[in-house]
Amino acid sequence: MANSKYEYVKAFEQPDLLLPNTWIVVRIDGRGFHKFSNKYAFEKPNDRRALDLMNAAAKAVMNELPDIVIAYGISDEYSFVFHKSCVLFERRSSKLVTTIVSTFTAYYVHLWSTFFPDMSLSPPLPSFDGRAVQYPSIQNLRDYMSWRQVDCHINNLYNTTFWALIQVGGMDAKSAEKELAGSLAADKNEILFSRFKINYNNEPEIYKKGSVVLRDYELVEPGTASEVIHEDVAKPGEEVELSKTQEEKDRKRRAKARITVQHVDIIKDEFWERRPWLLS
Ligand code: ATP
Ligand code: ATP
Ligand code: MG
Ligand code: MG
Ligand code: MG
Ligand code: MG
Ligand code: MG
Repeated sequence: MANSKYEYVKAFEQPDLLLPNTWIVVRIDGRGFHKFSNKYAFEKPNDRRALDLMNAAAKAVMNELPDIVIAYGISDEYSFVFHKSCVLFERRSSKLVTTIVSTFTAYYVHLWSTFFPDMSLSPPLPSFDGRAVQYPSIQNLRDYMSWRQVDCHINNLYNTTFWALIQVGGMDAKSAEKELAGSLAADKNEILFSRFKINYNNEPEIYKKGSVVLRDYELVEPGTASEVIHEDVAKPGEEVELSKTQEEKDRKRRAKARITVQHVDIIKDEFWERRPWLLS
């Protein structure tokens, strides 16, 4: 490579390697989607087309980046989890974040017309910000995922009640906000049930639980050993080599597995216990 007198400027670039052996979460969030959702007349509180579009873009991202273990989406945000052993882009934060953000945004725009066939996109176009956060333990990572799912629940209960007061109850936004100020979850459930005959428990799972994107793989039945059983049995002395081959096989199988979107509880142990490969 030719050296030039200008080359020294390269040294101004600061390293941004994420710590080894930590779970990396890249969370992206739509910019100004409150306004964006009004511009395209998203149904309130939940526009199903908009969520399906977010999920389709997230699936495409996972398809292009096999290092992503699982993703979780609510509203205009998505969290993508990289395995702690991931070495993609040498774990450079800016590379990981910008690749996810631009891949997601490109698919969001590309797939827009599939989900909103009668509304063409025009500037200002949708854009997303992103950040990478490192979690040193599985407990921290699971608490992160739980935090997002609890947020989904809290926001959805509030929004469902808020919009019922407006759309069915005929209130304006200010009065609805006032009505709900300081209310507890039980109060909102009560308002929904007694005034609008809505049982919150019967609301669609996608709104209550958000969307989990993962590679479809054989589930471990509850109560059985939390290990995927392999057909190959290692002879004494060959253990390491064989299990490495098996690991490689598993990795390839997972990379090929179909990517699915599910609306399930990720707070309880059961979800993780039935899918031990996610965090192993
Ligand atoms: P910022 O740029 O700071 O993120 P924002 O306007 O995007 O600002 P958020 O806190 O990210 O604010 O909230 C996203 C908003 O987008 C929600 O409050 C909601 O109004 C709207 N929104 C996102 N997805 C949907 C959807 N599927 N259906 C209806 N509204 C949605
Ligand atoms: P990385 O993902 O690491 O960036 P890369 O293949 O994109 O890998 P770059 O160093 O970014 O590598 O180089 C971009 C390459 O894309 C160039 O070397 C060139 O081959 C090609 N390229 C980009 N723009 C043009 C163009 N306008 N005409 C022809 N080739 C181009
Ligand atoms: Mg934001
Ligand atoms: Mg936003
Ligand atoms: Mg948001
Ligand atoms: Mg390049
Ligand atoms: Mg280049």
